[in-house]
Amino acid sequence: MSIAGKPSIQSLLLDEIAAHLATQNERPYRAKQIIDWIYQKRVTSFDAMSDLPQELRKRLADSFDFTQLQTVRLLGSKDTTRKFLFRLADGNLIESVLIPASPSLYGATSDRRTICVSTQVGCAYGCKFCASGLDGYTRNLDASEIVQQLLAVEKESGERIDNVVFMGMGEPLANFDSVVRAIKIINAPWGMEIGARHITVSTSGLAPQIRKLAEEPLQSRLAISLHGATDDVRNKIMPVNRKYDLTTLLSACDYYASRKKQRIYFEYILIAGINDAEEQAHLLAAHARRLGAKVNLIPYNNVEGLEWSRPSRERQERFLSILRGHGTVATLRREKGHDIDAACGQLRLQTKRSLETAPASAD
Ligand code: SAH
Ligand code: SF4
Repeated sequence: MSIAGKPSIQSLLLDEIAAHLATQNERPYRAKQIIDWIYQKRVTSFDAMSDLPQELRKRLADSFDFTQLQTVRLLGSKDTTRKFLFRLADGNLIESVLIPASPSLYGATSDRRTICVSTQVGCAYGCKFCASGLDGYTRNLDASEIVQQLLAVEKESGERIDNVVFMGMGEPLANFDSVVRAIKIINAPWGMEIGARHITVSTSGLAPQIRKLAEEPLQSRLAISLHGATDDVRNKIMPVNRKYDLTTLLSACDYYASRKKQRIYFEYILIAGINDAEEQAHLLAAHARRLGAKVNLIPYNNVEGLEWSRPSRERQERFLSILRGHGTVATLRREKGHDIDAACGQLRLQTKRSLETAPASAD
């Protein structure tokens, strides 16, 4: 629902548009025509849908919103990670990141372009190491605001996205319905047409919602932000662990993996002196083996105002080799976009005032 109180056309599924048209005695094929204008021809108004009768275009505009994200700022260059700052219709700001080919990224092979999308304005979960939680939570995005991030980034960059990670601002599983709806549109052959194996949802560990997601008829992937192999470590850095402890979380993961017959990912940020002890590596390997999970190690990215740092390269490699020594499938990521604060965990709300001095630009 938009602020004008009308549903957004980009949050509807094909059969929902068809059902709406049926109530108006419109021909069924009109729904596909409308969808093609949005996702194939990429028009930005009902008025541009030139093969629909004028009068139908007007009725659609009366019933639905057709908004676009407004690009406030674009950072980065064509060969590097690009960060897009978007303004929503109600003035709130969100960010998306376009990441060029990166073989170690979820679902990505060497020539893929990955978008990292936001699911909320801010985040309520307050992980101690993360920029997105620093300014608290404002609101959920609706499905169209998630889908619009893909449409806007493809339009701005002129490139086609073929991999999506729900790892921007916000906790996706705290905005369950809109995220599931957005995945359906992103995955649909009539929509963004991105294969489910190339869509990855990341969660800080909302165990009940992981179980709920397991019941959805989706084949998208799941990544768990683990960041600690014991309750002790997780409690220190992730308040969510006090609600759903490690045993509860891992049992939900187990359920998901077996129900979906899928391998899940554990994300593990390496933070010096916090979670990089060798013992953590041995325990992490044990969890991964039990669940058949893959581990992605991510050296911590500096966040202004936070005192954490990444361990030395040698220590990162040591952690990796312990995992591999146990037979765990693991990668150590070299972050892209570190320099423009676009790497995971560096997305944060910015005050409108700081933006007034920053015109939209691409460099
Ligand atoms: N809320 C979800 C998805 C968004 S966070 C989640 O927590 O999984 C996306 C990823 O970035 C998570 O794995 C998160 O833990 C990680 N991240 C957060 N802060 C980071 C930082 N400073 N350096 C590296 N990764 C970070
Ligand atoms: Fe929220 Fe994820 Fe950041 Fe934690 S890591 S504060 S859940 S966005």
